[in-house]
Amino acid sequence: MEGKVYLRSEDYEQHFSPRDYLTTFYSFDSGMVAEREIVKFSLQNLHQTFSAGGIKGDVLIDIGSGPTIYHLLSACEAFREIIVSDYTPQNLQELQKWLKKEPGAYDWSAIVQHVCELEGDRSKWQEKEAKLQRTVTHVLKCDVTKTPLLGSAQVPLADCVLTCLAMECACPDLETYQAALCRLAGLLKPGGHLVTMVTLRFQHYMVGPKKFAGVYLEKETVEKAVQNAGCQVLKCSCVPLSYSQAYCVNDGMCFVVARKKPQCLKPLADKSLPWGSYGKHLKSLAPQLSNTDHVASIC
Ligand code: SAH
Repeated sequence: MEGKVYLRSEDYEQHFSPRDYLTTFYSFDSGMVAEREIVKFSLQNLHQTFSAGGIKGDVLIDIGSGPTIYHLLSACEAFREIIVSDYTPQNLQELQKWLKKEPGAYDWSAIVQHVCELEGDRSKWQEKEAKLQRTVTHVLKCDVTKTPLLGSAQVPLADCVLTCLAMECACPDLETYQAALCRLAGLLKPGGHLVTMVTLRFQHYMVGPKKFAGVYLEKETVEKAVQNAGCQVLKCSCVPLSYSQAYCVNDGMCFVVARKKPQCLKPLADKSLPWGSYGKHLKSLAPQLSNTDHVASIC
């Protein structure tokens, strides 16, 4: 095992092995119990959010997908189009391999079967794979520490932005984490949903022999950062699950669903008017608004 700890995004390009990552954290049927329980927690919450919870729409953008697709299996039934993204070129290649059904692609079938079981019919797993392969329309490079985070790629505003287990790895400190969440919220339509799964009290994780660190987050810090990014937290479900010590040092996992607030009208937000005069001020702004729904949704 090497002594060095990698913290910068640039380190991922040189040192992150998609295969080592997948076999450690996503072996599911044959892997360690702790890792399997965490995947099950994610799949259960994603199922609740996108199947039962009714979050759906045209476009979902996934940020920091890594070489993985497990988190899109429920969402592909609820969105017309899914855009996936990651910083690391070898992760994008690994994703493309699975999406194009190329030889040597990672075998996700055990996890796909588990999701189909949650949806009521385990035997439909091959249809589910084909559905997800059709629904992912773009595989993009992203860097959540930069603006714009998707570089020069032109993407529509999303109904949902999803990010699982990526921001705590991509961001070395709280300031960077907060800025990254604001960038993610910037990809959303007003009223769109931000869905994120976070490793709490994260210190580092192993990808083969390489150790990667990130930002240490408490539940309250995550909620605060989501709120500061202009989103209202609708659900924050935390469990005391931890990875196997040899693979990752953390304490707890957290699944958050939030909704981007309707846009504030600057003049209203900036002026400190006495309470009684907001109605009058609103009326004076009415000609600027395209329809009355906007009036109702002003914050
Ligand atoms: N979402 C996946 C992968 C998480 S691993 C899962 O749920 O398992 C962490 C990921 O963060 C890696 O794929 C890495 O490439 C990505 N990452 C690192 N720095 C990043 C950055 N600056 N912007 C976006 N993603 C980054």
